[in-house]
Amino acid sequence: MGSGQHQVGKVVIVGGGTAGWMTAVALSRMLGGTGLSITLVESAAIGTVGVGEATLPQIRHFNRRLGLDEREMMARTAATIKLGIEFRDWGKVGDRYIHPFGKHGETLGQADFIHYWARANAAGNAAPVGEYSVPIMAAWQGRFEPPRDGDDRQPYDYAFQFDAGLYAAWLADLAQGDGVARREGRIVDVRQDGETGDVTAIVLESGKVIEGDLFVDCSGFRSLLIGDVFETPFEDWSHWLPCNRAFAVPCANGGDNGPYTRATAREAGWQWRIPLQHRIGNGLVYCDAFWDDETARSILMDNLESEAGSDPRPLRFRTGRRRSLWHSNCVAIGLSGGFLEPLESTSIDLIQSGILNLVDLFPTDRIQEADRREYNRLMDLEFARIRDFLVLHYVANQREGEFWRAMREMKLPDSLEAKIADFRSRAMLPDYSEGLFQAPSWISVFLGQNIVPEGWDPRAGDLSDEDLAVRLAKVRERVVQHAKAMPEHLAWIRKAGAGFQATSARR
Ligand SMILES: Cc1cc2nc3c(=O)[nH]c(=O)nc-3n(C[C@H](O)[C@H](O)[C@H](O)COP(=O)(O)OP(=O)(O)OC[C@H]3O[C@@H](n4cnc5c(N)ncnc54)[C@H](O)[C@@H]3O)c2cc1C
Repeated sequence: MGSGQHQVGKVVIVGGGTAGWMTAVALSRMLGGTGLSITLVESAAIGTVGVGEATLPQIRHFNRRLGLDEREMMARTAATIKLGIEFRDWGKVGDRYIHPFGKHGETLGQADFIHYWARANAAGNAAPVGEYSVPIMAAWQGRFEPPRDGDDRQPYDYAFQFDAGLYAAWLADLAQGDGVARREGRIVDVRQDGETGDVTAIVLESGKVIEGDLFVDCSGFRSLLIGDVFETPFEDWSHWLPCNRAFAVPCANGGDNGPYTRATAREAGWQWRIPLQHRIGNGLVYCDAFWDDETARSILMDNLESEAGSDPRPLRFRTGRRRSLWHSNCVAIGLSGGFLEPLESTSIDLIQSGILNLVDLFPTDRIQEADRREYNRLMDLEFARIRDFLVLHYVANQREGEFWRAMREMKLPDSLEAKIADFRSRAMLPDYSEGLFQAPSWISVFLGQNIVPEGWDPRAGDLSDEDLAVRLAKVRERVVQHAKAMPEHLAWIRKAGAGFQATSARR
């Protein structure tokens, strides 16, 4: 017999961090009508990673599909709005740019805006590309309002920055309200079918046995099933993304809650700043080959803008992913399946993709090899695209120092080398039909890291130099006026009824 030879009626989710509870709510809401029984097992003694506070706009689409109320989520998780990520000192010390959630510019003719911009820029007639972006100009002014319906001239989107612990607690409330059973206890044993190798049950320290047909491994870095039980190979990407440690610490909120995340490059890593309604999340990601822990810890603490709310918490990780995220009757979602460092806030998004792909391929009867293969293919693609995008930030640097020199000199993935060459020669961009990091993201980081196009699409020659300069100036003026007319970010949150309301969670 192959694996998955019986119908899937019972799902067991192993772990109750962000991944576990997102999976629980999603499966209960999207597959609830199929009579599926869902049990989630977590251990308070083991706890969760508890970081992961910045998200991507895809979370809004996920919320909508699940019928989750955005403003209630903001109120329960002390969330702020995120219009993008500001990168400081990443190209050269003193450089500053925002990777926004939205397009630059407007349609000017046959070619995409970036080609007109590249042409004007080469002639010295263009402002920095960020000045043609509504979310960037709004972020820098600390302003926000949701995109206006029907205004697709300068489309943009937004995401959230929230307290990860409160988010998981809110989802736990919702999932249990939907009928998901929660079991508390440490998993000490895993039972497998002697013939197929499928997991048949997990055993808790108390002796309780929990049986299932499909197991979702959300056990975090411990990787209890996909790693420990199935030993699926881990593809290590630390030669491309060598940062492997972090310290995280909150500090008091000084009132500057700009609607964006900040990532500041440091001598052997980078520091994040994520403003929430009730505090600011900070952390330093670094590579232990270049800094010892004490150096990293003091750099973080010396660079806080206000008093620390606790001692800094150390975290260790290895960049890469499991080759098969769906193996036998086990699907790994979250950190158990892999981790790419948090520079572009991609982990929660990978959790969402894992969940949505699982729902799309959910066995109607028995688990099929074809479903597993397709799931693994889709997730591979997602991981590899994110990897290339992250590596770009590091490789295209002009900074001094051993760490940054090593990053500049690394051998790139072939796929990334081609993308850089295409952009430099003629402003050509990756054209993904779906998935993360579409053209506007690549534009921001290429230009932000000082990779400037030397050529462009010849169709961008359909305006005279004078017309182009006038049109660009008008676009820029419209962008500036649009951002200026928005309310101040925190004022918008209060008015929207999304101000933080601390409540006691059920679990
Ligand atoms: C430094 C850092 C910064 C990050 N920043 C971001 C960010 O800004 N944005 C973003 O999207 N993501 C970020 N992430 C990633 C994010 O934190 C995770 O993707 C997210 O929290 C999901 O974690 P998880 O649920 O997979 O694992 P965990 O939170 O570790 O949960 C694991 C669960 O498994 C349970 N468990 C484990 N072993 C057992 C056992 N034997 N018995 C019973 N239960 C068990 C635990 O109790 C827990 O409930 C960051 C990660 C790191 C390390």
